Amino acid sequence: MKAIVLMKQTPDTAQLSASMDGLKLMAEGGPRIVNPWDEYAIETGLTLAEDHGGEAVLLTMGKPESTEAIKTGLAMGCKGATLLTDDAFENSDSLATARILTAAIQQQGDYDIILAGKSAIDGDTAQTAVQVAALLGIPYLGYVAKIEAIDFDAKTITVVRAIDSGRETVTSSLPAVVSVLKEIGEPRYPSFMGIRKAAKAKIPEMGLADLGLSADEVGAAGSNVQWPEVTLPPAQETQLELIEGEPEEAAKVLVQKLLAEKVI
Ligand SMILES: Cc1cc2nc3c(=O)[nH]c(=O)nc-3n(C[C@H](O)[C@H](O)[C@H](O)COP(=O)(O)OP(=O)(O)OC[C@H]3O[C@@H](n4cnc5c(N)ncnc54)[C@H](O)[C@@H]3O)c2cc1C
Repeated sequence: MKAIVLMKQTPDTAQLSASMDGLKLMAEGGPRIVNPWDEYAIETGLTLAEDHGGEAVLLTMGKPESTEAIKTGLAMGCKGATLLTDDAFENSDSLATARILTAAIQQQGDYDIILAGKSAIDGDTAQTAVQVAALLGIPYLGYVAKIEAIDFDAKTITVVRAIDSGRETVTSSLPAVVSVLKEIGEPRYPSFMGIRKAAKAKIPEMGLADLGLSADEVGAAGSNVQWPEVTLPPAQETQLELIEGEPEEAAKVLVQKLLAEKVI
């Protein structure tokens, strides 16, 4: 069994500060992490490899410093990784990103399943994995909360999807692109031995030429969507009011104020 995990490195949005310039932040600012949703995709790949034999490998499109996030995935137990990096990829929208990932997948030899996170916490379009499935001409299963049954010999998978009106059970052929939710299982922590081994790992890189793509298929040239500007939401003004007095009296005053503000 071979599972390809699409893993993106993102800014650590939890450490954003209002002073940061949005686009600059996206491009180079701040601490970088494994896209949190992709940790669930990694966990799913590792569990499938444990249950069915085989391996989970990582595929990342990003800047050279994305190797840090890749090493986290290797330390969790992934058996291999490829970094897709080239200046020509700068400013790629999700479709151009999907083209780059697809070209790399087509050079990976046989694989049984492609795993992805629900979305990336920076671009947050939730489009890239769907577009990879469309470009490969294979099924896409989104919002997957549980893999009910999987048969790599018969090439079938049955999943439970979380949809607005509840749960939906879907059966599909394999290979397929499967994007998973938190419910799929808690990501394991990298082991100490895993971290040590990953720290020494040499991560192969592929660029535009290696992927057989042309410059007008990637970057701004290959993108339909341009981001002329990225701005952080305006900082919220908050006011603090202390209600003095006996608890019962203070509670009454609080209720009045909440009613007046139409909070309750
Ligand atoms: C400096 C900068 C400029 C940008 N300019 C533009 C622009 O002009 N127009 C525009 O549309 N977008 C732009 N982007 C955003 C970029 O296109 C998207 O971040 C990227 O295409 C992925 O889309 P997303 O973040 O919405 O991921 P989603 O579609 O939300 O990701 C869904 C899943 O796909 C997989 N995935 C996504 N990205 C990758 C990746 N890179 N490697 C491996 N797996 C991945 C992961 O499993 C992820 O969970 C810019 C980003 C940067 C950093």
